[in-house]
Formats: sequence, C-alpha cells, structure tokens
Amino acid sequence: MHCFFLAFITVFLVSLLGCFESFKADSLSDNIKELKTQLDSLQRVEMTVNKNRANRYVLTHDSVRAGDGLFQVMARMGISESERRQIVLAIQDSVELSNMRVGQNFHVAQREDGRVEVFRYATNPATIHLLFRNPKTLEFEYRQIEKPLIRRQSVFTGVLENGSTLNGILLKVGVPTRMVGIASGVLQCKIAFKQARAGDRFRLLLEEDFYQDSIWINGFVRYAEFDGHIVGHHEAFRYEDPDPKSTFNAFYTESGEALIFDGLRYPLDRLHITSSFGVRIHPITGKRTMHNGVDYGSPKGSPVYAVAAGSVVTSGYDEFSGNKIAVRHADHSTSWYLHLSARGVSVGAKVNARQMIGRVGSTGRSTGPHLHFGFTNSAGVWINPLSKTMIATPKLEGERFARLKVQAKKIREELRLTEAQKPNLLDKNSSVKVKTRVVK
Ligand SMILES: [Zn+2]
Repeated sequence: MHCFFLAFITVFLVSLLGCFESFKADSLSDNIKELKTQLDSLQRVEMTVNKNRANRYVLTHDSVRAGDGLFQVMARMGISESERRQIVLAIQDSVELSNMRVGQNFHVAQREDGRVEVFRYATNPATIHLLFRNPKTLEFEYRQIEKPLIRRQSVFTGVLENGSTLNGILLKVGVPTRMVGIASGVLQCKIAFKQARAGDRFRLLLEEDFYQDSIWINGFVRYAEFDGHIVGHHEAFRYEDPDPKSTFNAFYTESGEALIFDGLRYPLDRLHITSSFGVRIHPITGKRTMHNGVDYGSPKGSPVYAVAAGSVVTSGYDEFSGNKIAVRHADHSTSWYLHLSARGVSVGAKVNARQMIGRVGSTGRSTGPHLHFGFTNSAGVWINPLSKTMIATPKLEGERFARLKVQAKKIREELRLTEAQKPNLLDKNSSVKVKTRVVK
C-alpha cells in the first residue's frame, strides 16, 4: 500500500513542479487539496519522497468531450492499446463507463516507456476512481475515493397556471435549473398523457448533495405530490434498495405500486394533438387509412425527447416516415418518432427518459412540421400511445415493501422538518424564498 501511495505522491509532485504545462491551475490546487485530504486520512503514509523517482513520471490530463468514450480519451492521452485493455479490464466492474459525461477529468501518470502507473478518473469532483499499478504483481489495483458531501433538502410547492409550462412554474417557485428536468419528469410521469388543469397543486421534496458547500454533485426527488382536478391526489415516495443499482430504485405509492420512475415522459415540450390514433382520412392520399400513432403539431426544429429510457433500434430515413428514430424500452415495447428534421442518436445508443434525440421536421410524407409519435408493444403491434402510460415496473413485496414503509415514514418526517424551517432567499440574486435544511 505504501508503494502505490508513494507513486501517487510522486505523480502530484511532478505536477507541483510544473513539469506538465497544460495542467490547469485550478485543477492543480484541487489536486493539492485532495492529496492533503488523502494524507490526513492515511496517517501511516510516510512523507519521504524520492525526487529522482518523481522525474521518471509524465503526468497527462484530459477531459471528456462530446461524443467521447473511454477509448477516445485514452487514445488522446497517448495510452497504448495494451495499456488501454488493462485499464478497461481493471475499472469496468467499478465504473459505469457508458455514463461518461462531458467535462469529467482524467489524469494519468506514465513512465517514460509509456507504462501507466496511476490512472485517475473523476466522475465528479467528489468521486475519484483510481488505478495503481502494484509494483510486485504489476496488476492494477482499484480504489475509490468518496469525499465528504453536504446534503440539503428543500420543499417546493406550486400551482399550475394557464399559459405557463410546468418547467416555467418549477423555476418560478425556486426549483434550481439543474433539478427542473428531474422534477418535471417526476411530475409529468405522475400525470402522463392525462390532463392537468390550471389550479392543480404540486409539492416536491428535493435532496441535493454538494461538495465544499457549493459544488453541486447530484440531486434526487425524495417525494412528489400532485393534487389535480381531473387526475386526483397522488403521492410518490422514492424507494432506495440496499443495492444502489437495483431496478427497484424508483417511485412508489405508499402501498408499493410502482408509479413514476419508469413512466413515460412527454416527447415534446408542448403537446398539441393534430391527429389521433385510429382510422382517418390520410392528409396526403385522401384514403381511409389506419393512423398508427398520434401527430403533435410543433414548429420545425423543436426538440424531441425519448419518452422513457431504452436503446435506439432504428435511426434512419425512408420516403414515408422521413427521418425516423425508434427506441426499445425495458418491457420490449418500442417508441417511434417520425418526420424529424434532424436525428441526434445512432442505432445502439442508450438513451435516458427525456433525453433529446432529434428535432421536429416535415421529412417524408408529411404536410407540415409535426411529430408522428407511435408505440409498438412487445409483439410489434401498434398500440395507441395515449393508452400507454408506464413501462412495467414490479410492485414491491415482502422485505422490500417493509423497507418502503419505513422509508416513506422517514420521508414524511423529513418533509415535516423541512417545512418547519424558516424560508430563506434562494440565493443572493433571487427574491424567491425556499425552505431548506442541511441533513448531513
Ligand atoms: Zn402521423
């Protein structure tokens, strides 16, 4: 263990000495802080550093760019093919390599002969994945560093208004921009493809983690409540399984029915149905035909979103559908998006719910800009998209249901404690007041 931390120290000494020019000043000071933190927590590490040894390493830094996979980053950093293979084998079980995001940082320390001694991938400023080459076995050893975070919970309440979008209202009541997509996704699933009305009320309990007080790391909706004239009163509780990767991690009613997380989102920002599912007179041929989807009128170029997570199974063009994209979901149903002016994903890509996949257009057989949105079931039969509101998620039973009941009780208590706070200004640039509580 001493050996690889010695290597780690030498790596950062190289950076301190300024041997690598493109190393940015801010990330350098971050690394010094991080090194100190690690040294504090590992008091047995000796501080003696062999400077001659330090000079034998070259430190390289790069970050994820649009369209990058791990391969592209490692190739830019000059890592050889055999080293790349070793790194992927050593890290793939611990890190979701398909979730790489633009701006995430990589550091690598290589000997002059190119051999990688340390590989460092920061998925966010507080989560560091490190590979050290064990000097005896020459195998990589993996270590994850989680820095301490501050957790805050906040309550937001609002009322739907005529002429405003849900996102607009969420922003108005103080939901931070970074959480608006998540929060509106949860609420929209709750009322997916049904009619919400002006005057309908919602309440959200958000939980966000920060590093060094102000660097946002992640955020969740813990609780969502919707009270609508037509859709009625609904509550959703975020269930957390002991396994953080469990597919049971989702939103449920208090009675354990899966609710929101895998529900369908809207494919557009605004929904204006111009033609419904079923038999109709075709606008171009004039024939009675079966319309196997729903048409939404929308200006050319409007973003089109995947209605649920899945993988892209079609991304192409034909003279009838124009530019088309199909996404297959967890329950083997497939959502279809036709007549696009632009396609933003390729076959095989994994998409998240509400991820933008293309833009509205009028390509193929079409009378004007619109989105034709369709759904096939697992047998490939066209179904009415408006009848499909959820991707099947199992009901919680047994031990999990017992756990949900405990968690729901805790969430209600958190909601009560947060609502009891004195409202504070959201930030110095805002007049919106929000009730917030530090929980960790
Ligand atoms: Zn259509």
